[in-house]
Amino acid sequence: RLKEGRALALDVWTIFSAVNLPADCINLGQGYMNFAPPKWVTEAAEVALHDVAPNHYSHPRGRIRLREAIKSFYGPQFNRELDVESEILVTSGANEGQYSVFTAFLEHGDEVIMFEPFFDQYLPSVTFNGGKPVYVPLHPPKDSVKKPTSDDWTIDVEELRRAISPRTKMIIVNTPHNPVGKVFTKSELESIATIAEEFNLLVMADEVYDCLVFDGKEHVRIANLPGMWDRTVTVGSAGKAFAATGWRIGWLIAPKSIIQPTLAASTRIVFCTNSPLQEAAASGLEQAKERKFFEIQRAEYEERRKILCDVFDELGLKYTLPEGSYFILLDISRVDFPEDYPFPESVLGRGRDFRACWFIATEVGVSSIPVSEFYCEEHANIGEAYARFAFCKDVDTLRAAAKRFQQLK
Ligand code: GLN
Repeated sequence: RLKEGRALALDVWTIFSAVNLPADCINLGQGYMNFAPPKWVTEAAEVALHDVAPNHYSHPRGRIRLREAIKSFYGPQFNRELDVESEILVTSGANEGQYSVFTAFLEHGDEVIMFEPFFDQYLPSVTFNGGKPVYVPLHPPKDSVKKPTSDDWTIDVEELRRAISPRTKMIIVNTPHNPVGKVFTKSELESIATIAEEFNLLVMADEVYDCLVFDGKEHVRIANLPGMWDRTVTVGSAGKAFAATGWRIGWLIAPKSIIQPTLAASTRIVFCTNSPLQEAAASGLEQAKERKFFEIQRAEYEERRKILCDVFDELGLKYTLPEGSYFILLDISRVDFPEDYPFPESVLGRGRDFRACWFIATEVGVSSIPVSEFYCEEHANIGEAYARFAFCKDVDTLRAAAKRFQQLK
C-alpha cells in the first residue's frame, strides 16, 4: 500500500520536464541554466578527476579544500572565524543538507513553520522525517498595486506568532525566496528572530540565492542578528552560485551544536558528497572575489530579468518584479483556455494553473511552473493565479521567449 498524501504524488518538476513538452518549447520552467559554469571553475574538476584522492570518498564533513574555501569566502559575511571542523558541512546539494537537519532534529509530530508559498521540497523533506508543516502566509500584493515587486509580498508577524504551538521546533526562512523572489528586510528578519528566541526555535535560513539580489538591495543573514547564530543553520548552494545545479553540492554553516547531529544524519543518508566537484566548487569560491564573479553575474541576471519584464510590460501583463532569485511570477488568472484542450493526465485534477501553464507551454511555446505546487492543498487556490518563469537562461533564449509572447499582441 502506498503512503497517502501529497509527499509521494508526481512532482511538478517531472510533470513540466522538458521531455514531456513539445521539443521546440522554450524551457523557463525548472530553475536551471542553459549555459555552462565558468571554465576556471570546471577546470578544477578535470584536474581532480586525474588525481587519486578526489575520486574516492571524501570526509563526510566535505573535502578540506572546500571547507577552507567556504570559511574564507563566507566567514567575513558572518563576521566570524568559521571552524572548518565543526561549523561547516558540505552536503549533496542544499536539499540533502536540509533533509539531514530535519532528520537530526525532528521528532514525530514536531512542527516546522514555513512561509507560504514555499519551495515544494520542504514539504516531503519535513513529513518524511515525521514532522508536520505549518503554513504562515506571505500575503500577495493587493490588487490595487499596479506594478508589484516582491517586497509587496508581506508577512504578518502576529500570524507567525499565532502559528506557534508547544510542538513548534523550527522556522524555515527562505531569502531570497523561491518562487516569489522576495528579499526579506532586516526588520522582517528581526521580527522573526524575536519570535524564534522567545519560543526557543531553530531557524533554517535557506539562502541558496544569496548571490542573486538585485537593484542594490541588501541580503541580510538572519544568523547575524543578535543572539541568532546559536539557533540558525544557513544553507548555501554551489549550483546557484556557479551555474551548476547538477553537481549537487551545497553546504551548511551553523554552530557545532547543529552541525554535529546533522553530520551524523548526513553520514547515514549519503555518507559523503561527490568528491571531484567539491574541488571545483572550492576553486570557484577561491577565485570569485578577485574575478568579481558574483558582481558580474548579478549584472547579467539583472539584464536577463529585464528581458522578460519588458515583454510582460509591453503586453500589459501583471507580474511580481523579483528583487532576488531568478524567478518571475506572472499573474495568469485571466488566461483563458478551452477546458476540452488535450491536456495530459498529469495536469488534470490539479490546480487550474497546471492546465494554464500547460496551455501556455504548448500554444505560446514557453514553459513555466504552476505556483499552486508551492502551496498546501488548502491554500492552493491562491497559487493558481500565478505561473513562475525562470530567467536563469542565456540572453538569446530569453529574447526568443519574449518574441513568442510578443506574437500574442
Ligand atoms: N530549485 C529549482 C527550482 O525551483 C529546482 C528544484 C528541483 O528540481 N527540485 O526550479
